[in-house]
Amino acid sequence: MLRLRFHGRGGQGAKVASRVLGSAAFLDGYNAQDFPLYGAERRGAPITAFTRISRDDILERGLVSQPDVVVVMDETLLSDPQSTPLSGLKKGGVVFVNTPLTPLETKEEYGIEDHVITLDITKISLDMIGKPVLSSLAAAVAAKVAGIGEKALRDALEKELSGIISERELLDRNTEAAIYCYNAVVPISIETTEKFREKENVISIPFETALVSSPSILSKGNTPLRRTGNWRIFRPVWDYDACTKCMTCVARCPEGCIQLNEDGYPYTDYANCKGCLICAEECPVGAISKVRESHSQTEEEDQ
Ligand code: SF4
Ligand code: SF4
Repeated sequence: MLRLRFHGRGGQGAKVASRVLGSAAFLDGYNAQDFPLYGAERRGAPITAFTRISRDDILERGLVSQPDVVVVMDETLLSDPQSTPLSGLKKGGVVFVNTPLTPLETKEEYGIEDHVITLDITKISLDMIGKPVLSSLAAAVAAKVAGIGEKALRDALEKELSGIISERELLDRNTEAAIYCYNAVVPISIETTEKFREKENVISIPFETALVSSPSILSKGNTPLRRTGNWRIFRPVWDYDACTKCMTCVARCPEGCIQLNEDGYPYTDYANCKGCLICAEECPVGAISKVRESHSQTEEEDQ
């Protein structure tokens, strides 16, 4: 059995990616299982989704704690202590990272010792779809890694995306970008072992104290320390020559992170701005433009 785990941000499509992969595997003659796990239902919050693929019946249930393949749809998750996407990855497993870095650079940057595949699917999505929609692209990369055929992937994309995308042309662009990613990944053989399961007849759930197994706030008032804006794709930039100080952007920002400078012009706290660009959409005079982030900003750059 092949076990895959997707790690993304709320809004990036990790759930749909696992769904498309599961459907593609099924249409290719496998048994498949896919399901998501949500934490905070908030755009940008870490999301996990799982797919199991097997020629045999799949009797296993529950979260995939020891995956053969990890798909990291947002590379900032690799340094997010709440996400830890590489945890439990089996020896001999494969990590896909959505990044402009090469596999070697990615290994060095994040200290990864496993087999790494990289592709900048955010850039491909922006270039080919016109917006950062990553679900079908991540599914395509995973399908290639899992050895699923291209026809089954195309059929699965049609089946799953037609239920959520009404515009034919947009669906076709999604499929085209997904197939581009599928063909950009070199096939590899996954050499993980199933040995750890040989003696297990039942699912073992270790006892944990309430402090470990229940949500708990150990440090009061730590929200300001969480950099919720470290993963955005675009940053809003203000043009004060055009701004009329109408305050619409201040009122519309869902994060409440736009403040006023000493001259009364708005500026955002980039450490917590998640890049939703609602401010730019709502500005009546177009005084806010979007600038692509080449990487998440460091704390020093934000100041
Ligand atoms: S992009 Fe604009 S609206 Fe969205 S979080 Fe940042 S400042 Fe607020
Ligand atoms: S919405 Fe536009 S014009 Fe109004 S304060 Fe914000 S940037 Fe200025």
